[in-house]
Amino acid sequence: MSLYSLSQRRSDTSPGQVVLVGAGPGDPGLLTLHAYQALQEAEVVLYDALVSQPILDLIPPNVECIAVGKRCGAHSLPQAEIERVMLAKAAAGYRVVRLKGGDPLMFGRGGEEMLALKLAGIPFRVVPGVTAASACAAYGAMPLTHRGVAQGVTFVTGHGKDGQPISDWSPYVIPGHTLVIYMGLKRAATIQQGLMAAGMPAQMPVAIVGQASQSGQQRVNGTLGELTTLASQPDLPSPAAILVGETTALADSLDWFVAGAQPDVNSKSLDNIFDSAAM
Ligand code: SAH
Repeated sequence: MSLYSLSQRRSDTSPGQVVLVGAGPGDPGLLTLHAYQALQEAEVVLYDALVSQPILDLIPPNVECIAVGKRCGAHSLPQAEIERVMLAKAAAGYRVVRLKGGDPLMFGRGGEEMLALKLAGIPFRVVPGVTAASACAAYGAMPLTHRGVAQGVTFVTGHGKDGQPISDWSPYVIPGHTLVIYMGLKRAATIQQGLMAAGMPAQMPVAIVGQASQSGQQRVNGTLGELTTLASQPDLPSPAAILVGETTALADSLDWFVAGAQPDVNSKSLDNIFDSAAM
């Protein structure tokens, strides 16, 4: 890809820096003010495939945007190459934003990138984002914890380092607990079998939320015994997360989300917020 040139150096000599920014689940209204400000001040943005178009639209037109996205394990740039570009741009003096879906430190390799920056001696900071579990719960209308029902919640990946899902699910079968499984849609059959083999009842309520917070959001509810069938519904959009636990049964009665009915957040409305804050 010839979108970037690593050798070009900024004309002034100020040191570069990197901001690892969480873009949240897709709705631009869920960006933090720090995230928005970092995008306005960026000279280079390296963004993942999960970052939604309405958020990319908030990046000023003169900023160099580099798509480094990974989706379902198909990396358009390998992780080592992403880190090489990020370090090279910062070393050349640019203000770099590394923009990631959700929260950068939740299944986002943010830790690996922080270590690479630390090792290279490049200053960095981290702006957290709304992670998929929070978005699926809020926009899917079910609490992650609920007094007397769920005292805890675990976020787990259905896709291990070598693409293998967890083989023993028994540590995750905890009474009064919600489980949020990221990257699990394609492995729903294995997850269903694993949880049931570890003693979770087939009647345990589950939900799958796809494209949480976006206009294409879809939610399906059922039981653990139906998980494989629910996950294979053709109109379920990706990315999607699986939620397992008693609280997911509340979703139909608490449902509030109407696709496309959220307040419109765009660069004009955000600039107004910043202008009035600066006054
Ligand atoms: N750092 C991200 C997670 C990256 S892993 C975060 O904090 O959210 C990618 C997985 O996140 C997807 O496979 C899916 O399970 C989940 N995910 C990301 N965005 C989502 C969304 N808008 N709706 C539902 N699940 C989402």
